[in-house]
Amino acid sequence: MVAESDPAPPVAVSHGPSRHIRLTSHSGAVGTPVIRWGAATAAERGPVIGTTITRAHRNVIGTHSGSYSVYRALAVAAGALSRDHRADLTNTAPTDVIGPYEQWSRPGAIVSLDPWGAMVAEAFATELAGGYDIRPTIAVTKAHVILPEIAEAIVKGRLHPDGRILLPSGAALVTKAAVEPVWYLPGVAARFGCSETELRRVLFEETGGMYPELVTRGDLEVFLPPIGGQTVYIFGAPRDLADPTVELTARVHDECNGSDVFGSDICTCRPYLTHAIEECILGAQRGGVGVVAYSRKEGRALGEVTKFLVYNARKRQDGGDTAEQYFARTECVAGVQDMRFQELMPDVLHWLGIRKIHRLVSMSNMKYDAITGAGIEVGERVNIPDELIPPDARVEIDAKMAAGYFTPGPVPDADELRIAKGRGLAQ
Ligand SMILES: [Zn+2]
Repeated sequence: MVAESDPAPPVAVSHGPSRHIRLTSHSGAVGTPVIRWGAATAAERGPVIGTTITRAHRNVIGTHSGSYSVYRALAVAAGALSRDHRADLTNTAPTDVIGPYEQWSRPGAIVSLDPWGAMVAEAFATELAGGYDIRPTIAVTKAHVILPEIAEAIVKGRLHPDGRILLPSGAALVTKAAVEPVWYLPGVAARFGCSETELRRVLFEETGGMYPELVTRGDLEVFLPPIGGQTVYIFGAPRDLADPTVELTARVHDECNGSDVFGSDICTCRPYLTHAIEECILGAQRGGVGVVAYSRKEGRALGEVTKFLVYNARKRQDGGDTAEQYFARTECVAGVQDMRFQELMPDVLHWLGIRKIHRLVSMSNMKYDAITGAGIEVGERVNIPDELIPPDARVEIDAKMAAGYFTPGPVPDADELRIAKGRGLAQ
């Protein structure tokens, strides 16, 4: 064993012919708070501690901030950040209290985020005062969101400023929450129907051995994965989300930087997002509440490089860009059609206490199945109006409808899918 003060990262080292593994981290160090995942109160559950300052306090695998943990390491390496820095949480408390809700302790309901993550400073004040470096994994604040599509909807008379949800300037008032991933490994394994041992082994191997504790520390059941998290935008009162008698308009949206931010017209992501925001504002103005949960799962979680490769493959294939070949081209490059795994997505809805979505703004059968499979009732499904679909995105929409995505209109047939509708690369 290596002493706690050893600054070296944990590594599995083989020693000659015996090939025994030397562990660099202790299990069950004295004074390490225990995590009882799914416990009914924060005190019983215990704090999630991913600090790198005092190794003996750690009760998770990985570190905080998701993918940004690597930038933190760079900042330390560059000498810009002291590795002993501790967050001063003064005045950082959530602007709105979310929960606790029954779902927080319902077995298996939440496995990919820490429902107590926003309440750290309050719930674990004693531990913080006692020297434990405990960090929030959720932050809740207020914002005004200003989108040209919403301003246009006001001009066209579809939206009306009320000074409460929507200001005359076109700004919509929201409560927003940032959520980092916190995975309870036994629960994640159960969600995907594999054994925890298998999940740990594959996570270890497919990250190039980045987290040896996945295979050496079976006692650590919580993993802070180096992936993007989620942002939740709430229109109306956050507490109303948990009241099934209040009309709830919701969209769960997966990141598409090209469309969401830059307005690229090959897909319907931004039009869908802004349409959902318009529906959320309308719902909140009717006395309901709206929510958009935005997940950092760029390009169906395949990443943007893969996504752009697929765009080229689609547009250069014989016969041009057709809906018939839409999913096949993705699979040729990525090996799968989709890597978003909506199985984990409903966790954020459970965190918000949601039991019923009256209006789900989505065509995705995968999202619908995941939400209803998690025990959340879905009323009406709201699809994107035809006039909001960019011409080049017709390929995507036709392919999705033919593949079983929800549509109130006719499903395109085989002949329809073979008609090239996508623009060429030179156009
Ligand atoms: Zn997109």
